[in-house]
Amino acid sequence: MVDNAGAGLSRRRVLTLGALAGATVLGTGLSGGKASAASAPAIFYSPHQDDEALGLAGSILEHKAAGRPVYLVLVTRGENDSLASLMNTDPCPLTTRDDRHPCAAHGHHGLNWPTGEASDSVIVPARTAEFMASAATLGVDKVINLKVPDSVWANEPDAFAKFTSTVKSKIASIAAQYPGASHKFTAGWLEVTKTHKAITDAAVQLARAGKLTDVRFNFVYAYDHPLSSRADGAAYVLNIPADHMGTKRDAIYCYNRWSPSKNLYALGYHSVPEKMESAHNDPHEYVFALPNSSYKYGEIDRPRTDWS
Ligand SMILES: [Zn+2]
Ligand SMILES: [Zn+2]
Repeated sequence: MVDNAGAGLSRRRVLTLGALAGATVLGTGLSGGKASAASAPAIFYSPHQDDEALGLAGSILEHKAAGRPVYLVLVTRGENDSLASLMNTDPCPLTTRDDRHPCAAHGHHGLNWPTGEASDSVIVPARTAEFMASAATLGVDKVINLKVPDSVWANEPDAFAKFTSTVKSKIASIAAQYPGASHKFTAGWLEVTKTHKAITDAAVQLARAGKLTDVRFNFVYAYDHPLSSRADGAAYVLNIPADHMGTKRDAIYCYNRWSPSKNLYALGYHSVPEKMESAHNDPHEYVFALPNSSYKYGEIDRPRTDWS
């Protein structure tokens, strides 16, 4: 455990492995490929600073262990004004909620960060410091920071389409630069965040156009759901080996470390404490194949059973 976060993260769930029995195992694509494909990188795309630790880490370590170079792409800048306001609040809201969470700063931040758009100057580098610590912990071979403004939230009618288009062109450039690479995204159609859905839309469009090969989608919000339904519709459930799970937890702890001299303010944990704890306690990742022709582009929110 890092710093003061022990109480919450040490909670354990009893895993019901039988709940995962419904998943069809299609394999990971790690074996049986051509030699040239084996040396091409596996490229993982994290929409925000935290998604890689929550739901990609086990797969990253799996590919590293198989000898593949792993590149980790941070897609957006991760602007988050409400997080700045939260960190300015004293006592820490995590310690005063009904479902209390530990605060790595002992419940008192003493911060006076700018809010509104001005918060970007503090929040973006601090979230990125956590991401870089996580990436180093996971041992990725390269970090590619696209620094795309998270403009999907902009108050204009075509914000979603514009953001999708921007991301699509950047992913296409990466794919062209690394022929034979595999591409791993998050399963945005299962994840309510508009940003995740837009990035997934871009990936699906590129895959259908033949511009991306070997595309998979990790369900990084699976840990919000009951264990019994996390694998519904998944092509593959990764059972994360104990040593890899230890490393994944170390990556999660990068988001709950209070070390202001290193620009580390436990922002990830303050942002999504339940996700962090739940992912910490489930040694599985849920990997989906390219969705079928019923997939709908754009901002939609459908029950995940539609997509199985
Ligand atoms: Zn995210
Ligand atoms: Zn706090």
